[in-house]
Amino acid sequence: MATDPSAAIVTVGTELVTGQRLDTNGAEIASALLTSRFAVVEMLSVADDAARLADHLARLCAECTLVIVTGGLGPTHDDITRDAASRALGRVLVRDAAIEATLTRIVALHHEPDAATQIMTQADVLEGATVIMPTTGTAPGQIVPTPGGSLVLLPGPPAEMRPMLSTFLSQRHPGTPPVRLRSTGIPESDAQIAAQRVIGDARGVGLTVLAAPADVEVVLFDEGAGPRELARLGASICTELGDACYSTDGSSLPETVLALARTRGVMLACAESCTGGKIASALTDVAGSSDVFEGGVVAYSNRLKTTALGVAAPLIDQYGAVSEQAARAMAAGVANLTGAQYAVATTGIAGPTGGAADKPVGLVWFGLSTPTGITARSQGFSGDRQGVRTRATMFALDLLRHALSERE
Ligand code: ATP
Repeated sequence: MATDPSAAIVTVGTELVTGQRLDTNGAEIASALLTSRFAVVEMLSVADDAARLADHLARLCAECTLVIVTGGLGPTHDDITRDAASRALGRVLVRDAAIEATLTRIVALHHEPDAATQIMTQADVLEGATVIMPTTGTAPGQIVPTPGGSLVLLPGPPAEMRPMLSTFLSQRHPGTPPVRLRSTGIPESDAQIAAQRVIGDARGVGLTVLAAPADVEVVLFDEGAGPRELARLGASICTELGDACYSTDGSSLPETVLALARTRGVMLACAESCTGGKIASALTDVAGSSDVFEGGVVAYSNRLKTTALGVAAPLIDQYGAVSEQAARAMAAGVANLTGAQYAVATTGIAGPTGGAADKPVGLVWFGLSTPTGITARSQGFSGDRQGVRTRATMFALDLLRHALSERE
């Protein structure tokens, strides 16, 4: 079997190697390459040191088909990526007239005499490079031929890097898009086994399973099988995963819930205690959610559960805030407050303290208000505080998904 072409990712910036800034670009690019034919074999972060970066780039460009670099393309003295790449590949920098013209407008906004000289360095392109013009920001990206493939230079700010990366990947690798099945509520290993069972001896299909808390994605790549076979296998794996499979096009759980609400023409709301706003945050992370998400209440204290959501104080005294009764009352309260047809509520013990024998850390009660009535159920979650809260958030969204999927 032919091996996949290799790729390396280099992120540039002293702020990355001193822990002042988390390298999210590296992870994003690596994830994006998962759906390409490239196998990432190395990922490293380098300080703003042109000589060191040049050494790394020379080695990686000799070893890998694709090398993607982010950062250090701006106009300041510490932006050393162009120079380092020029040294590494022995290609001179030439000033690009088209970029220069677009930068002239920016230069006009500056009063410092040296600013123009600095800003114009962004128009310096490695000889033979293809330029990717920026849609946001000023630094253009560059695709430079190397003996074994390409060196791609992208700006550091994620919002500038992202569209250029998509442009590059879609231009270079237009093949069959991967099939992305997402599921919640089943372990990664179960999803992997189910997918492998379905694929069996089928040829020309690549499989990757990606796991996040309570979220497992099965990705199928076309390695010769063709789009129809990929779709057929995807549908069979989805059937195998059963109810846990919530999307077949890579949509996230919040996106799926919002789409279902839109189809039904209903509004959503949430009342959150232990999840502290994470459900509302997940839903509002999705652009356009306002058409079906009414809003939510973070009612952390018992007092607010009573004053904002109408949970009766004697009910909390009798059963506790983490109880079936409280979860029901919270869901009913927020539905009443917002008028939403579907509302979910969470109340639980995220830990690490606060657990008891009958109510251990990780126990969460969920309330659900739908047009057919109020229900509640509990679930125990493992993990640290963040893990419990994240899993409870996914579980709450999944309750909404199920409720919205039921026939009336
Ligand atoms: P600019 O024109 O903004 O200077 P640049 O290509 O020179 O672009 P850098 O100066 O290296 O980029 O980084 C600019 C900002 O981009 C950093 O302060 C940081 O906020 C963000 N950034 C850079 N690299 C990364 C990375 N690997 N992961 C996440 N954010 C990053």
